[in-house]
Amino acid sequence: MNDRSRSGTAAPCFSQQAVGQSMLWLSVAPACNMQCIGCARRSGTLSDLAGHGATLSADEAVETVTAAAGRGAWPAGVVLWGPGEPLANAPTFLVLKKLSWLYPDLAVTVGTNGLLLPDRIEELVRSGVRNIALSVNAASVVTAERLYEWALYRGRKYTGEDAARLVLQQQWNGLENAVEAGVSVTVHTAGISGVNDHETAEIKRRAEDVGAAGVVVHPFAA
Ligand code: SF4
Repeated sequence: MNDRSRSGTAAPCFSQQAVGQSMLWLSVAPACNMQCIGCARRSGTLSDLAGHGATLSADEAVETVTAAAGRGAWPAGVVLWGPGEPLANAPTFLVLKKLSWLYPDLAVTVGTNGLLLPDRIEELVRSGVRNIALSVNAASVVTAERLYEWALYRGRKYTGEDAARLVLQQQWNGLENAVEAGVSVTVHTAGISGVNDHETAEIKRRAEDVGAAGVVVHPFAA
C-alpha cells in the first residue's frame, strides 16, 4: 500500500463534478474489481464527495427515475456509477435493460474504470448506452503500478506490474472498442500531484487520438 492511500484523501474514479450535476446519479455498484490508492470507497469519504451514501437495488434505481418523472423533474440524463465499478455489478445491467425499455429516450451514462469495458461493450450498446465516462489515470506501466494495488479479472487477482499492464491494456482497448461501436466516451483523469500529474497531457493526447469525445483532467491533491 502506498502511503498516499492512508492519507484519507480520496481519489475517486468519478465525482458529480466529473460528469455533471444536472444528471440523476444512481449508485448501483457496491463492489469494485480493482483497488486504487486512496479510493474514496475505502476511505469512507465517498458520501461527502459525491453526495451519495447507500447503494440502490436495481428496482430502487428504476423507481428513482420513475419518481423524478412523476414529479415533472425529468433529469438531463442518468449516470450509473459506484461506489464501486458498475460493470462488475450485475444490477447495473438490470437497470440498463429496464431503463431502455421504459425510457428509451433517456440519456444514460455509465461510469467505469475500464477493466471490463472491452468485455462488456457489446452488452452496453445493446442496452442503449450511448455515453461512457471512462476513468484513465496513467499512460505508463510505471505510473499505473503506483496507482493500482490490484485488479481482479476473469477470476484471477493481478498485482504489481501485471495489474498495471492489464488495467492499461483494458482501458485503452475499451476506449477504442467503444469509439468503434459509436459510443461517446469522455475520459476523466484524476491528476494526483506527484503521482501521475506528469502524464495527464499524454493521457489527453492519446485519448483524443483514439477518438474520445472529451478528456477532462481533475487536479487532485494527494
Ligand atoms: S476504480 Fe474502484 S478502487 Fe478505484 S477509485 Fe473507483 S471505486 Fe475506488
